Formats: sequence, C-alpha cells, structure tokens
Amino acid sequence: MAKQPKELTDLFHETLKDIYYAEKQILRALPRMAKNAQSEELRQAFEQHRSETEGQIERLDKVFDLIGKAPRGKTCDAIVGIIEECKEVMEDFSGSAALDAGILAAAQAVEHYEISRYGTLRTWAQQLGLEEAADLLSQTLEEEKRTDALLSKLATGQVNAKAA
Ligand code: FE
Ligand code: FE
Ligand code: FE
Repeated sequence: MAKQPKELTDLFHETLKDIYYAEKQILRALPRMAKNAQSEELRQAFEQHRSETEGQIERLDKVFDLIGKAPRGKTCDAIVGIIEECKEVMEDFSGSAALDAGILAAAQAVEHYEISRYGTLRTWAQQLGLEEAADLLSQTLEEEKRTDALLSKLATGQVNAKAA
C-alpha cells in the first residue's frame, strides 16, 4: 500500500494533540505556580486561569469530536521545557523578592506558546472549513490573550517594582 502524503487535515490533528497535551500539563502546573506566588493578585490570576484551562480542555474535546477523532495528547517538548524552566525559577528564587517576577515571566512564556498554537489552529480550521472548531479555538485564543494581558499588567505593576 502506497504511503499517502500527509495533508493539512493531518497537521491540524497532530497540532491539536500537541496543545491538548500542553493544556493538561498547564492544568497540573498552575496550582504549583499559585502556591509559590507571593502576590495575592498573581495567585488569584493563576487560580482563575486554572478554571479557565479546564474549560479550554473541554473545548478541545469538542474539536476532536468535530473531526471524528478521540481526544488524545502527544508529548509537546516545548511546554515540557517551559514548565521545567518555571520549576527551576521557583526553586532557585524561593524566598527572593524577584520570585514573582520569575514566575510571571515563565507564565507569559506559557501563554505565548498557547497563543501561537491557537492562532495557527484557528486559521487551519477556517481553511479546512471547520467553522465550529474555528469558533471554539477562537474563544480559547481570546482567553489566552486576556490572561497574557493581565500578566503583563501585573508584571509592569507591583511585581517588578518589588523585585528591583
Ligand atoms: Fe490554555
Ligand atoms: Fe508543542
Ligand atoms: Fe493559558
């Protein structure tokens, strides 16, 4: 049997598995980040985003369903690395006034990865004529952007001031 060249629909499915895995890792990492955050605002931001992340995973479940595939993740080395860096900064800067600045920076790296993935997936869903999937991915994309903006606001506010 000749091997069929992979198409955009396969790329969409593979990337969906990538972000599904990433979201599950993020869901596990956020409570740790909340626990380590010194600022009450930052802790709350992580807790709120944890519950949003649960909803994002549910949206991904629906997208898998829309393409007739079982929801399944595939190891995303990028998110593993970003979360690893976050753990490192939490250990290395434990007790330091710069701890929150470090956790914030790591959290923004997470959001930027997600924004990149969801932007791509939304565009591909549109190209593939998967309108409902594109809409679901768009909702999550906006949530990630809002989270990033909130983190930016916290970063330029008290957190960096304290670290200096
Ligand atoms: Fe997310
Ligand atoms: Fe990845
Ligand atoms: Fe996020």
